[in-house]
Amino acid sequence: MTDKAPCHTNCKLLTLFGGTFDPIHLGHIAIANHIANWLKLTDVTLLPAHIPPHKAKPKITNEHRLAMLNEVVKASNLFSLDTCELSRSTPSYTVETLTELAKANPEQKRLFIIGMDSLNNLDKWHRWQDILSLCNIAVCTRPGCDISVENNDIKARIAKGNKLIAQGLDSDKLSVLAHGHIFIAPALHLDISSTEVRALLANHADDTKQTLTQKLPQAIIDYIQANHLYQPISK
Ligand code: ATP
Repeated sequence: MTDKAPCHTNCKLLTLFGGTFDPIHLGHIAIANHIANWLKLTDVTLLPAHIPPHKAKPKITNEHRLAMLNEVVKASNLFSLDTCELSRSTPSYTVETLTELAKANPEQKRLFIIGMDSLNNLDKWHRWQDILSLCNIAVCTRPGCDISVENNDIKARIAKGNKLIAQGLDSDKLSVLAHGHIFIAPALHLDISSTEVRALLANHADDTKQTLTQKLPQAIIDYIQANHLYQPISK
């Protein structure tokens, strides 16, 4: 753990950025900074998800994912880390985490950051309507991922969100605004994914090192190399 505690108890607005972060990449960091600049946020709490056993077997341990997240937290005042989902032995649903946070701090408002691919699947998330009663959602655009929401309820929440954006939205307003809105952030196109990073590392090519510097912070590259993570596939 780092010294910096998540702002659970002392913030009117808690901004959470959930993900598997396997590994955390420059796309994640850019998204968080982009949303933070747009909404004048001073803290984004990274919320690493427990990877469920039935999903593709993770190539690295939670400890390694956590260590890399800590490198990012160390490097920027914007970030803090909440490991509550990792400390549970079972896969945790976002709705459960948000419910716990709401119980612990009933006055606090929550903003949850997701990418466009996640928005397009939001109506498949466990108890997604309850999630929306527990937070507002900020969505970052993603290359190759146009908005394709079909659910009318979600569409209405985006339309309402757009109206609020047009009136001017920032952390002060979000800290008193009711939950349930979806805000699409101004476009930011960063074509980076953890899948691509893992593939790059596994299929080590001559230009891998150079390509990686465009995808990962140097501290993460160093960590991956020092710990021989995402090793090349032996041929
Ligand atoms: P993987 O490739 O393993 O599926 P990922 O790169 O999508 O991983 P996650 O940790 O699963 O990373 O992502 C956490 C959140 O960040 C998700 O809501 C995802 O949509 C969003 N996200 C990740 N990368 C980007 C990106 N380049 N642009 C926009 N959103 C992104």
